[in-house]
Amino acid sequence: MPMTPEQQAEIDELRSNPQPTLRAVAPGMEQHLYTAYDVLDHGFIRVIDYMGDDAAICQAARVSYGKGTKSVQNDAGLIRYLMRHWHSTPFEMCEIKLHVKLPVFVARQWIRHRTANVNEYSARYSILDREFYIPEPDKLAAQSVINNQGRGEALTGEEAARVLEYLKGDAARCYDHYAEMISDDGQQGLARELARMNLPANIYTQWYWKVDLHNLFHFLRLRADSHAQYEIRVYADEICKVVADWVPAAYGAFEDYRMGGATLSSKAIDCLRRMLKGEEVTQETSGMSKGEWREFEGVIG
Ligand SMILES: Cc1cc2nc3c(=O)[nH]c(=O)nc-3n(C[C@H](O)[C@H](O)[C@H](O)COP(=O)(O)OP(=O)(O)OC[C@H]3O[C@@H](n4cnc5c(N)ncnc54)[C@H](O)[C@@H]3O)c2cc1C
Repeated sequence: MPMTPEQQAEIDELRSNPQPTLRAVAPGMEQHLYTAYDVLDHGFIRVIDYMGDDAAICQAARVSYGKGTKSVQNDAGLIRYLMRHWHSTPFEMCEIKLHVKLPVFVARQWIRHRTANVNEYSARYSILDREFYIPEPDKLAAQSVINNQGRGEALTGEEAARVLEYLKGDAARCYDHYAEMISDDGQQGLARELARMNLPANIYTQWYWKVDLHNLFHFLRLRADSHAQYEIRVYADEICKVVADWVPAAYGAFEDYRMGGATLSSKAIDCLRRMLKGEEVTQETSGMSKGEWREFEGVIG
């Protein structure tokens, strides 16, 4: 169950009680505020709070540029200019606070993004719920033969059934032992902070995650990318939808320059120039390694 009835009641209460404010609000974000969006089988993301909008980015930028920048007068143009030139601090003026429920193995990847503030559910203090991520059959994939850090085709037949059985059975057995160890029914009961070490990495945890827009874009650039693991990418994809409504101009520039754009090395630019002049350039004559050439071909199609 992604949301508990108590959490849903809290969301309904918050959404039914709007407060007047003098602060800038982003209408696109107001529609998302507090609402939980399901991710994976038991997870979700929801916006708890936010600060700033597209205008806040421009307001901050204009402090540094003053009135002198006639060429970047309109907000969308200014935001595109900032994104293009890696003038990143104006994007840090916007912040978002998310409540995320996610499997522990996804949390381990997520927490590597150090430029955020995190407050996690305490498994020392509280008892974890009996909820485990079990992949859908089409996501139960074999090891990729071309990428050590990736997956290939979905498992099928007896192997798929056996793997699913292991995932479900092992998780259930570990949780049964966890519950038995912490129980104080007729025994002392092992401390929760110790008993949790028996739990599998597909159990769900929850946290509040606060990050500014610049660092959020960095997170999304890496985790909404097709090379990111599916189980974290679905969270990043869901966050992208919210951000697109929150700061449409900034998100548009991010999509264009970062998600859809590419960085070329000087060797790659040289090859491109030679190609445009009609020269037939191959990997052997490019000066690039096979891997670089493959990625370069991916960029230029
Ligand atoms: C596809 C993929 C595969 C990966 N594989 C692995 C792996 O096999 N093993 C592994 O360990 N990790 C792996 N990672 C994690 C990766 O190395 C980064 O730790 C993670 O993406 C966070 O990025 P970051 O450090 O740029 O982000 P943040 O921690 O948010 O930092 C943002 C930026 O702030 C600066 N910064 C933050 N902290 C410091 C600091 N202490 N010192 C200097 N500069 C700092 C850096 O410029 C950094 O880019 C992988 C990530 C991806 C996307």
